[in-house]
Amino acid sequence: MSIADNLKIIHERIAVAARKAGRDPAAVRLVAVSKTKPAAAVDEAARAGQRLFGENYVQELVAKAGEISGPLEWHFIGHLQSNKVRQIAGQVTMIHSVDRLSLAQEIDRQWGKLGRACDVLVEVNIACEESKCGTTSADVFGLVRQVAVLPHVRIRGLMTMPPFFDDPEGARPYFRELRRIADEIAALAIPRVEMAELSMGMSGDFEVAIAEGATLVRVGSAIFGYR
Ligand SMILES: *Cc1c(COP(=O)(O)O)cnc(C)c1O
Repeated sequence: MSIADNLKIIHERIAVAARKAGRDPAAVRLVAVSKTKPAAAVDEAARAGQRLFGENYVQELVAKAGEISGPLEWHFIGHLQSNKVRQIAGQVTMIHSVDRLSLAQEIDRQWGKLGRACDVLVEVNIACEESKCGTTSADVFGLVRQVAVLPHVRIRGLMTMPPFFDDPEGARPYFRELRRIADEIAALAIPRVEMAELSMGMSGDFEVAIAEGATLVRVGSAIFGYR
């Protein structure tokens, strides 16, 4: 199977899952996660029509974005160290992994130099797993309020990465909980805070995530093969 074939299948599966949930397939965007894959693989996906890519590592993102010409859009989805924000300022259109105020402040500083705002998602570690990043379900409200006042950061929604399950149904309660938290935050009507985006679902469970309201699914291995 080529990358183009895989993309076609993923798009079909997204459409089926969306319709089954009574949702418009166009309301779900595919973030092709290209981490550890060479620029040639991104190029192949781009030639098949994929425009939006997700990367986890700053160095890799900067290298690939520099290597590939064309109108691609990059999202940063991995753990982000504050001292590396400068390198991706202006390169990415969204950061999915804002999990602490100090990081948001640095994003604000760097995007401020560019004179624009960075779209971000606040990452929530619903299972409170030690191994994962993200703020807790309890702390997310306070963090959102603090980030909301930063002029060059714009909160667009939430992101989560549930524990791994062999059965994708295992992830459903975590996706549902993220949606519930987003609804709760939206109801607070905090100025400048939107809860329009839910980044959840990966290769093994994106259909379940779509059923629970995902607007951004982050799919890597099902497109590019195993890492
Ligand atoms: C690697 C990664 C993905 C993609 O995972 P696959 O199982 O390969 O689809 C999605 N989100 C994050 C945050 C990742 O690190």
